[in-house]
Amino acid sequence: MSIMGAIETCTQKNGLSSLLIEIGGESTSSVRCSACGHTSYCITPMYDCSIDIPTSCKSLEYALKSYFATEILDGSNKYLCTRCGTRTRAEKKISVTELPKVHFK
Ligand SMILES: [Zn+2]
Repeated sequence: MSIMGAIETCTQKNGLSSLLIEIGGESTSSVRCSACGHTSYCITPMYDCSIDIPTSCKSLEYALKSYFATEILDGSNKYLCTRCGTRTRAEKKISVTELPKVHFK
């Protein structure tokens, strides 16, 4: 069984509603400017990062996928690029660069 499958079975069996990711990990959020292609990175320690699993959510994999899905910064949320100085549409993506311990609550 895959790790994902094991976690899923465990959460379903115990009726758990969220995952608690404990200290130790590190996540990187990157924002890519659509005007010049410049990517800026922001490294954040993952302290107590909690991922909610909605009851309507079909699987844990889905919950994790939506948490790590690419976010489009557009409209009033447009990104001001530090390189070209353009306020533009950008893609923001969170990725885990160092894996933390995972706990259930
Ligand atoms: Zn730019």
